[in-house]
Amino acid sequence: MTTHREPLSSVLETVGETPLVAVHAAPDEVPVYAKLESFNPGASVKDRIGTYMLERMLDDGTVEPGDTVVEPTAGNTGIGFAVAAGQLDVEAVFVVPERFSEEKQQLMRALGAEVVNTPTEEGMEGAIRRAGELADERNGVVPQQFSNPLNVETHYERTAPEIDEALDGEVGAVVAGCGTAGTLMGIARYFRERDPDTYVAAVEPEGSVYERFFQDDPDGPTHGEYKTEGIGTSDIATNELFDPAMVDELVTVPDERAQEELKRLAREEGQLVASSAGAASVAARQVAEQIRDGEVDAPYDSVVTVFPDSSERYLSKGIYDSFEEWQG
Ligand code: PMP
Repeated sequence: MTTHREPLSSVLETVGETPLVAVHAAPDEVPVYAKLESFNPGASVKDRIGTYMLERMLDDGTVEPGDTVVEPTAGNTGIGFAVAAGQLDVEAVFVVPERFSEEKQQLMRALGAEVVNTPTEEGMEGAIRRAGELADERNGVVPQQFSNPLNVETHYERTAPEIDEALDGEVGAVVAGCGTAGTLMGIARYFRERDPDTYVAAVEPEGSVYERFFQDDPDGPTHGEYKTEGIGTSDIATNELFDPAMVDELVTVPDERAQEELKRLAREEGQLVASSAGAASVAARQVAEQIRDGEVDAPYDSVVTVFPDSSERYLSKGIYDSFEEWQG
């Protein structure tokens, strides 16, 4: 692991190489390890795609210095791209549905980006549409985190090898929340190539409809409301990265359970993580118990998950308040 004892020339060099820490509440027989992504400079997993994707797009000429990138985002992707764009001489405009945390929007603006809001009722799909329109108006480039294979490649090339090195390759199961699904798909593909029996579980909040990927019924279930931020989908048509063939199990975690777990992680494990990490932790422990009890076959007795960001970003939404008070 890079120790950063030498002076670095740019904050972009501090992206990645995040710590992998054991979750204490996991069964002794099957440890669960969480990659703590709040250690990135913009404090989330999305700094990885911001830097990796923008550097690649500058390398291949998709984006040139002075160009504008326009991206629909729940916030963390905006911060990740804003950190990178500011250092790589690229302008950034982000389209964010109103419901997402004000802290994230303040940070994007502080980093020099412009933020455009879309109505909460239109969901992420509304933001995606508006980003397309804005890109046309301003001759901008949309990195398209929901369909760009560079999103998955970021985690295949960077996040997964870090986990591999930390655990000497002994990864039995990969469990992660899916927003774009870039994180899960990149890590899962890496370990599946190593060992096709690596168990893979996707995590979504109750109310999200990733389950539609596994059903023939064209109408499928309809989506509901949920408070967990950063994972789940209300329309699978907007996601081109999620590959159901890569997933053994889809774990649905109700908001209330995710919030209980993020509170427990703070109180008992000193981890200040947000709701998508709470959901990931619930699911990872469940998979670990299934491996322990012989209900799931995995090549090693270990589970890896990702804690995408920090609870500090959601204090104004009452993330540590009662379930009813938490605005989600
Ligand atoms: N948690 C949070 C807080 C996020 O912002 C995101 C990204 N939307 C995720 C989890 C999911 O990451 P991915 O898009 O790689 O599936």
